[in-house]
Amino acid sequence: MYDIQQIRADFPILGRTVYGKPLVYLDNGATTQKPRCVVEAITNEYYNTNANVHRGVHFLSQQATELHEASRETVRKFINARSTNEIIFTRGTTESINLLAATFCLSQMQTGDEVIVSTMEHHSNIVPWQLQAMQRGIVLRVIPMDDEGNLLLEEYERLFSPKTKLVSIAHVSNVLGTVNPVKDMIRTAHAHGVPVLVDGAQSIPHMPVDVRELDADFYVFSGHKVYGPTGVGVLYGKEDWLDKLPPYQGGGEMIQHVSFEKTTFNELPFKFEAGTPDYIGTTGLAKALDYVSALGMDNIAAYEHELTEYALRRLREIPGMRIFGEAKERGGVISFLVGNIHHFDMGTLLDRLGIAVRTGHHCAQPLMTRLGIEGTVRASFGLYNTKEEVDALVAGIERVRKMF
Ligand code: PMP
Repeated sequence: MYDIQQIRADFPILGRTVYGKPLVYLDNGATTQKPRCVVEAITNEYYNTNANVHRGVHFLSQQATELHEASRETVRKFINARSTNEIIFTRGTTESINLLAATFCLSQMQTGDEVIVSTMEHHSNIVPWQLQAMQRGIVLRVIPMDDEGNLLLEEYERLFSPKTKLVSIAHVSNVLGTVNPVKDMIRTAHAHGVPVLVDGAQSIPHMPVDVRELDADFYVFSGHKVYGPTGVGVLYGKEDWLDKLPPYQGGGEMIQHVSFEKTTFNELPFKFEAGTPDYIGTTGLAKALDYVSALGMDNIAAYEHELTEYALRRLREIPGMRIFGEAKERGGVISFLVGNIHHFDMGTLLDRLGIAVRTGHHCAQPLMTRLGIEGTVRASFGLYNTKEEVDALVAGIERVRKMF
C-alpha cells in the first residue's frame, strides 16, 4: 500500500547526488521536495491555460479561474472547512499570521489587550504580534513548557484574563517536534470566550487535520511544506470571524466598487485577496494536496511515526547525543547536539556526506533561550524518507564525532 520506492520515484530530485554522494534530504521542516505531478501541473498551466483570473470574459481566463477556484475547493475539502468562503489564499504561513494579526488587532483589540502564544513558537508567530504591540500597545503572554517540550497546560489556563482576546499556537513545533494538544487548548480558550489561531505549518504535511473537529477559529499553513510550490499558503478562518475583520491589503480583486468618495469591499474570500493571486501556485498546491490525499494522511502519519521512532532509537545509541524534545506526542522533527560539537560544524560536515540537515536557531530564538543553547542540528522527515537514510545520518554523525 505504502510503496516507498514508488513514492520516491515520484520525486525526481531524490535521485540526484551531491558531492558525488546520494542525496539524503532531511530538511523537510524547512521545505519539502515536489512530486513530478505538481511540477507538471504548474508547467501545464503556464503552457496551456495561463491567463489572469476572475476578470476575464475570454476562454483562457475563465479556464484559469475555474482551476483556481477548484483549488480552493480542494483545500476546503482537505481540512474539512465548511465553505470555500473560509479559505483565503496567501503567500504562506507568515503572511497568513501577519494578515490575521493586523486585521484582528485593528478591529478586535484595545491597548492593554492580550494575545497568548507559547514558548516554542516560530518567529512568524511572535514578531507579527510584537509589531502590533508596538503600534497598538497589545501585550503578549507566553505559555511555558517543561524540559521535555510539553506545554504546561495549568499555566496556560492561568494566563486567561478578561483582557485575553486571542490564543495563537503551533500545532507542531518546528524544533522539538512536540504535537501540542490543540483540541484541548481550543476548548479551554473557548470556555473563556477566546478564539484560537493554530499555526499548522508543521502539522499539515504530516497528519490528517480537520479544522471543524478541532474547532479552530483560524488555521494557517504553507504550500511549500506540504509538497506544493513556494509562494502560496492558506489562512482558514471561520466565516463569522472573517466577516468581522477588515481587509488587509487594498487593491484589485478585494473591492466591490471604488470611487474617490467611498469604496466598498468584495465578499469572502476575495475581501482578503488583493491583487492578482498566485493562481498557478494554487493549482500546484491543490495537486500536492491531491497527491498526499491519494497516499492517505493516516498512512503518511503512520509511516513517519515508525520512521521517527526508529531514528530516535538509533540516535540515542550515539555517545554524547542530546535530543531536544522528548514530548509524549511528537512528530518527525528531531533536534540534537552531540558532545561539544558546534551545530554548524556538524551540519557542514554532514553536508559533505550528502546529508542535508538544518542548523541554527530555526527561527525560534526564545525557545533556544529557554533551552539554554544557541542552536541545534535538526533532521526533519518527509513522506519519502527511509530507514536507510536514517542509518546514513547515524553513520554520518558517528564519523563526525570521531573526527572531533
Ligand atoms: N511556523 C512554523 C511552525 C514553521 O515551521 C514555519 C517555517 N519554518 C513557519 C511558521 C513559517 O512558514 P513560511 O516561511 O512558509 O511562511
